[in-house]
Amino acid sequence: MIRYNAEEAAFYREKLVKRVRADIRDCYQCGNCSAGCPAAFAFDYTPNQMMRMLQVGLVDRVLESRALQLCLQCLTCSARCPRNIDIAGIIEDLKTIAVAQERDVPEHVKTFNNAFLSTVAQFGRLPEFSMMVLFYVGTMNPKMALRDMGLIPPMVTKGKLKFVPKRAKGADEVSRIYKKALEQAKAREKAELAARRAAAARASAAGSHSAAQPAAVAAAAGSEVTS
Ligand code: SF4
Ligand code: SF4
Repeated sequence: MIRYNAEEAAFYREKLVKRVRADIRDCYQCGNCSAGCPAAFAFDYTPNQMMRMLQVGLVDRVLESRALQLCLQCLTCSARCPRNIDIAGIIEDLKTIAVAQERDVPEHVKTFNNAFLSTVAQFGRLPEFSMMVLFYVGTMNPKMALRDMGLIPPMVTKGKLKFVPKRAKGADEVSRIYKKALEQAKAREKAELAARRAAAARASAAGSHSAAQPAAVAAAAGSEVTS
């Protein structure tokens, strides 16, 4: 059974309005975003399904989805939305949140994402061969590496694959920006989580206090409270 979570929906709605200036309540499920998405065939949830899940507070599912990590950021969905919702912006922002919250992501998606980001952080650009080596080592799945071997000869012939990576000018700066952005995102998510827990504890304490009051009054009056 699916349980909707109004509190979670409201929390992330406000967060996305502030950070991406996109209000997920505007989505009326026309499906235009999904119809134009070139990567939807590999997603576990289509873009419009993700929007719907965010509307009803099923945020954990979105944060731990393959789709979030596999989105190409091509912006087709945002361009096609008749409600001007920046779906790609929402996905990108949630992806940062998922990384900062160290969410579990299925299959090898997290390994791929880590290999991509750490290679760019190290070299200031994307040396494909180094990234793929890092990815295959991370997956510990030689079958996958063997399956993709056939791609190497045509890529080398066409000059698309360099075996020795070169650092880009300004790579140190890229690395510094990457690390700082990740640290800031982690600190922000941690602070928000702590604030939410504190608010929940306060609300729970206030609830038990008000529930205890009638019992205390009844006890003082020598009678019982029934519910
Ligand atoms: S195109 Fe816009 S309104 Fe239509 S389903 Fe996608 S997000 Fe919702
Ligand atoms: S930005 Fe992502 S979700 Fe949107 S159309 Fe492109 S791949 Fe699909």
